[in-house]
Amino acid sequence: MLDSASCSVNFKAMSFTFHDFPQRLAAVRERMAKACERSGRSPDSVKMLAVSKTHAPDLVQKAAEAGIEIFGENKVQEARAKIPLCPGCLRWHLIGHLQTNKARDAAALFDMIHSVDSIKLLQALERAVEQTGRSSLPVLLEVNVSGEGTKFGFEPREVPAALEEANKMQRIQIQGLMTMPPFTKDPADARPHFARLRELRDQWRSSSGYMLEELSMGMSHDFEVAIEEGATWIRLGTILFGERTKP
Ligand SMILES: *Cc1c(COP(=O)(O)O)cnc(C)c1O
Repeated sequence: MLDSASCSVNFKAMSFTFHDFPQRLAAVRERMAKACERSGRSPDSVKMLAVSKTHAPDLVQKAAEAGIEIFGENKVQEARAKIPLCPGCLRWHLIGHLQTNKARDAAALFDMIHSVDSIKLLQALERAVEQTGRSSLPVLLEVNVSGEGTKFGFEPREVPAALEEANKMQRIQIQGLMTMPPFTKDPADARPHFARLRELRDQWRSSSGYMLEELSMGMSHDFEVAIEEGATWIRLGTILFGERTKP
């Protein structure tokens, strides 16, 4: 149990009521386990990132008390304000687009970056990690597999050159790939995109020598499909914390 005083902040009203959070979390874990079972995967092969973007530190604190240790944020600026107000034992992953001029902040704040989308950014991160005195930074390359939807991410044809470039670096550790398919109502629509990322991974694994073990794919509405297609990281916001208020 975390000391709640360590995270007492004068934030505005908590964005979500927490009385049923442990039940929600248990229900999500149950669905994760079932998806693993259906696809013949071990339940500990899938890790969950709790996406706390837009939510106050109180909520992070409560989620931490319920046993969540790793949180995802999509903006450096928001994370820089929030992380110091949250329990120090937590880990943080960046899942949103990162500008090269914020690489240094990102290297100081995050344990892992899921959204590396250019060679320029890889190079900026390598320098930033060196400047912060860290020995390494695990990252994933974001791949735009659908050619639509998100405007961020490498085109698949650009990835081999990025891997080659990263291979020359001392501190950047490419652990795998991330994707965000275009949003559609039916989670089944995401399946070909998830499957494609896994196929590309298998292809690049044999051509580059990188293992690319991690596949970050699947969000609240399609995480079960993503698990069936090989996700090792799922990124869940709404299903854990409720709807976000629009900015
Ligand atoms: C916000 C966000 C998520 C979580 O989305 P939900 O639908 O709320 O689960 C996952 N991944 C990325 C990159 C995001 O920006």
